[in-house]
Amino acid sequence: MKIPALKDKEGRFYYLNCKKVDRHTRSGYNGRDIICPMCDTVGTVYHFSWSSLTCQHCELSINKTAWWTPKKVSHLT
Ligand SMILES: [Zn+2]
Repeated sequence: MKIPALKDKEGRFYYLNCKKVDRHTRSGYNGRDIICPMCDTVGTVYHFSWSSLTCQHCELSINKTAWWTPKKVSHLT
């Protein structure tokens, strides 16, 4: 599944109702969706004890804080 990237007034892209992953981000018991900033594909993780993760779709290694996630622990799909 892909999520459309939007652009704000300054031309920076973002995903609706999502935020960047940071060191406080937790997955919860049911996992948490994360969005690849390179190809907009949604994946699910069950923990955040990693510093970078390879996207299953575009196969790029993405730093943790470059991934996006829904603001609330939930699933986009
Ligand atoms: Zn990707």
